[in-house]
Amino acid sequence: MEDKWSRSPYFRIEEVRAGVFAAIATPGMGAWSNSGIVDLGGVTLVVDSCASPGAASDLLSAAVTLTGRSPSYVVLTHGHWDHILGAEVFARAHIIATESTRATMLDSEVSLRREDLDSGFAQHLRELREQQERQTDQRIVQALDIEILENQELLKNLKAARLHHPEVTFAERLLLHGSQRSVEVLCYGGGHSGGDAFVYLPSDSVAFMGDLVASRRHAWVGSGSISAWYSILERFSRLDTDTIVPGHGNVTRGQAVAETMQYLLKVQEAASVCMQRGDNPMEFAKSIPAPFKGWGSGHVYEWNISHLTSVAHGA
Ligand SMILES: [Zn+2]
Repeated sequence: MEDKWSRSPYFRIEEVRAGVFAAIATPGMGAWSNSGIVDLGGVTLVVDSCASPGAASDLLSAAVTLTGRSPSYVVLTHGHWDHILGAEVFARAHIIATESTRATMLDSEVSLRREDLDSGFAQHLRELREQQERQTDQRIVQALDIEILENQELLKNLKAARLHHPEVTFAERLLLHGSQRSVEVLCYGGGHSGGDAFVYLPSDSVAFMGDLVASRRHAWVGSGSISAWYSILERFSRLDTDTIVPGHGNVTRGQAVAETMQYLLKVQEAASVCMQRGDNPMEFAKSIPAPFKGWGSGHVYEWNISHLTSVAHGA
């Protein structure tokens, strides 16, 4: 869709309802994750803050252009770098997150100041390039190109970062009201991270899901819990939602929730098979199951299999 509102290199704006906008990150440019802008009527809300202050500045400008005012609230869906690092740009807004996300951000502040930040990133980038050399699927090679670019940008931004910690925290449900619409900021627990919030617009059947829902992409399990994540999505499915803005990739429809649930089950199942056979996880992960083969971020499948098998072995 043509972006007639903003010429940002970091994202394109898509109007999903009147006054409700998705900022869809341009791959490899440093925004890294999607954001949202919601005009509540008299009050503007932003969802997630991109991975860089540069991208967040463009997001702030877009919010002012689209709603006629500076945002009053910024909801951070979870504490991963790619969603929080631009929050410092929203100095005049209240930052809202779960208690768990705030705790993660306070911990992250410590890791930002660590002297081994450069060497840690250098090691991570080396591993990404090694993974890329093992790949024969060109889509995965390209996905790793993007991953490397995003990480290079992230390192630059981390070094200059001043984290804007949430001033407002909540556990399960927070309501925000404007003259045109109300939104629910909800948390059903931690699945993808320690505490995953999402923003639900009941009157519009729209939800900004952070990384809980992946739009035909491999969802990164990382430090999350597959069973808890699955239960969150099962509960979420009972809400009336037609349009979903995921943390990465394109705006999608309600069926992406079932697809993500199916992916979580299948990746868990595949990791069990890998362990039963005693296969090398990296070799095993070369054959991605058919329904997910053409999905985006194919490199994440190997991470998931490696992680799930190592967690099971370590347990
Ligand atoms: Zn995440």
